[in-house]
Amino acid sequence: MVDKILQNEKLVKIGEATITCPVCGTKSLRITDYLYDVPLVGRVILTTGKCTKCGYKYNDVRLAETNPPRRIILRVTNQRDLNALVVRASTASIIIPETGLEMHPGPASQGFITTVEGLLERFKEAIELACRDPGANKQKCNELLSWIQDAKNGKKEFTVIIDDPEGVSTIISDKARTEPLNRRSGEKE
Ligand SMILES: [Zn+2]
Repeated sequence: MVDKILQNEKLVKIGEATITCPVCGTKSLRITDYLYDVPLVGRVILTTGKCTKCGYKYNDVRLAETNPPRRIILRVTNQRDLNALVVRASTASIIIPETGLEMHPGPASQGFITTVEGLLERFKEAIELACRDPGANKQKCNELLSWIQDAKNGKKEFTVIIDDPEGVSTIISDKARTEPLNRRSGEKE
């Protein structure tokens, strides 16, 4: 989706910088910030860049308006919820507690705009990659992949939780709830 948005002429460039690449460690990652108005979501800042040394591509998305640290919760019970838009900034965690699936921020994590279904697809790709490891627990892999397939087909009810210490992620749905986030992301109670 970010690639599609970047072709749009309504983008306004708001900044440029060269920062340290999280992959090769040299100060050769050239990034550009754009302000863009996304239908239904509102104003977002897109950051995109490429390392001139190793070719690493970086994308991030965050709401232009910041909020206090917050947790966003969506209970997914039908097809409409699967189509809800999700903005995940690179600094936010995503948790699906029913499965133990979690995505946490790291030095090379990326931000994205997708739907709940697209989020499931991202988890699926990550599991498929991890399960190619000969030491992976094949039974657990198959259970998770089968759960994701059922969820994508609307056969599961589940919860999507985004913990965002910067308050710049969101889920676009009347059903989404937000709570203040007091603990640091990733910390257990
Ligand atoms: Zn690099």
